[in-house]
Amino acid sequence: MALKTIGLFGGTFDPVHDGHLHVALEAKNALNLDEVRLLPCHQPPHKNTPELSSEQRLLLLRLAANNLDGLLVDDRELRRDKLSWTVDTLKECRTEFGDEVSITLLMGADAYNGLQSWHHWQMLPKLAHIGVLQRPGYQLPHHGVLADWLAVSTAAKIHTEAAGMVIAIKQPILPWSATEIREQLIRGVRPKGLPKVVFDYIVTHQLYGFTENRD
Ligand code: ATP
Repeated sequence: MALKTIGLFGGTFDPVHDGHLHVALEAKNALNLDEVRLLPCHQPPHKNTPELSSEQRLLLLRLAANNLDGLLVDDRELRRDKLSWTVDTLKECRTEFGDEVSITLLMGADAYNGLQSWHHWQMLPKLAHIGVLQRPGYQLPHHGVLADWLAVSTAAKIHTEAAGMVIAIKQPILPWSATEIREQLIRGVRPKGLPKVVFDYIVTHQLYGFTENRD
């Protein structure tokens, strides 16, 4: 029986950029998912405090994802006023969606390589499938548990099983990173890789210290 398939793509989105939107859409197509939910985290456990508030990051994400077919914004982590552990989010989603829905947690290869530092990381494939997206400069692991998970998985099972597969997704790669975009903004450089609506909002509200460099 074919299950309903939901992708979850978590991140800081500080700010959301074309790399995020592109990989979310590519993953949706590659795995033939019914929908992909973008989940901004409230307090990222593995990163510094975001520069923008949760509300601002959410607003930019909503602006960027508006009208992109099959991409939804899910603000559940912002409604939990504590560290955003992915294992808690997946448990919450599993309870809400039920056991007969296939959930795929999407992440870039950089995030997958560091997965063993995540809270209760061994539980993640019990709660969801994992879809690993290519990212410039990052290889998939060649040995160890994370490589083993990739080796024994089959993409087709994402449609018949609720969790347990770990699949590498070969999508065209885009170089953008939020860190580089923030660095360009503070220098007054107009960054590539930002959706126009996001850049316009940043300019209007003078976010990330941006003032146009007119030299
Ligand atoms: P930062 O540069 O601040 O670390 P980021 O651009 O990596 O930010 P995040 O919000 O931390 O953005 O990333 C959310 C998810 O998106 C992560 O799983 C990350 O691997 C993935 N991701 C971000 N940019 C890309 C990209 N260009 N290609 C593939 N995956 C990406």
